[in-house]
Amino acid sequence: MSKRRSAGIKLLAEGSVMEIEEGKFIVRSGNRNYRVTWSRDKWVCECPDFEKRNKKCKHIYAVMYYLAIKDIKSAVSSLDDRKCLQCGKSDMVIKKGIRYNKSGPVQLYYCKRCKRKFSARTGFSGMKKRADAIVSALDLYFRGLSLRQVAQHLKASYNIQVSHKTVHNWIKRYVRLVNEFVKSVKIESSRWHADETVVKVKGEHIRIWSLLDSETRLVIAVHISKSRGVDEAKKLFENGLEKSSKPDEVVTDGLRSYETAVEQELSDVIRPIFTQRRDEQQDGEVFKELKRRVKSLESFKTSEGAKTFAEGYSIYYNFIKEHDSLDNQTPAQFAGIINNRNWLDLIQRALEAKE
Ligand SMILES: [Zn+2]
Ligand SMILES: [Zn+2]
Repeated sequence: MSKRRSAGIKLLAEGSVMEIEEGKFIVRSGNRNYRVTWSRDKWVCECPDFEKRNKKCKHIYAVMYYLAIKDIKSAVSSLDDRKCLQCGKSDMVIKKGIRYNKSGPVQLYYCKRCKRKFSARTGFSGMKKRADAIVSALDLYFRGLSLRQVAQHLKASYNIQVSHKTVHNWIKRYVRLVNEFVKSVKIESSRWHADETVVKVKGEHIRIWSLLDSETRLVIAVHISKSRGVDEAKKLFENGLEKSSKPDEVVTDGLRSYETAVEQELSDVIRPIFTQRRDEQQDGEVFKELKRRVKSLESFKTSEGAKTFAEGYSIYYNFIKEHDSLDNQTPAQFAGIINNRNWLDLIQRALEAKE
């Protein structure tokens, strides 16, 4: 995430964005107010940074994030948890008792047309305010806020008081859910691109591994570890095989661990490994943002925390983040696999797929 993007998200979290009318905003930063307006076909800000570069400044990013959250809110408020999955309508649906599961009571419904029983499918059991908060938390966290900042934002915007631990539990739960769904949509990749980088966190070297599809640049897997051994490279490939078809080729930066891992995990890969030096230009975007995030992670103390983060980050990168280089599309839209681009849609689809 660029500095301007993360400054924008912080402005939003502090409640500095005010919508005056459609396409007109005031963003408060430092001790000044800046007007951000939609003019012809782009956002324009009156700050010196925008005037000098004529490119998106932190105020514009703050407005864009504000609008993304607003989208989520309106999607949540129009949630219909009693729509029948079979016919897609709710006109013949009646309530049919309550079932208790781990998270509490779940409303059951019955569609008289399809003669089919189903449970409320919002995934939030009718708790719209909470749904709103959870989806916003996921969004803001993967866009760059810390767990504590997310908790502060929820207090300020929704008057919901939760600890950063609760926020982390929500994130773990919904990342796991969406990840199950994403795994079912296999990426057809003939060439994997494996790469890794190192960040120093509190004196410790942390290694970030990534596996990309060469053609679409979709992130197939991210793995975070302390060691750089064969086992870690194998884990990266194991994660990869859950989400992608078996590739014909694996392009690596020459790290020895990959060779052994390919032999053990991908022995029938048709063509030999083709080794290439890292192309900073191509892989830069994934790592630049990831490095900054990993450095500030509180959730990273356990390997489970690292795994949740890696999985959630891949989801965010492929399905939610708008990429300037892809004309503001997500890599998934660009590759034509999944068009949904917010956490709420992904959670809903994941729940439908589970039924
Ligand atoms: Zn500005
Ligand atoms: Zn029906």
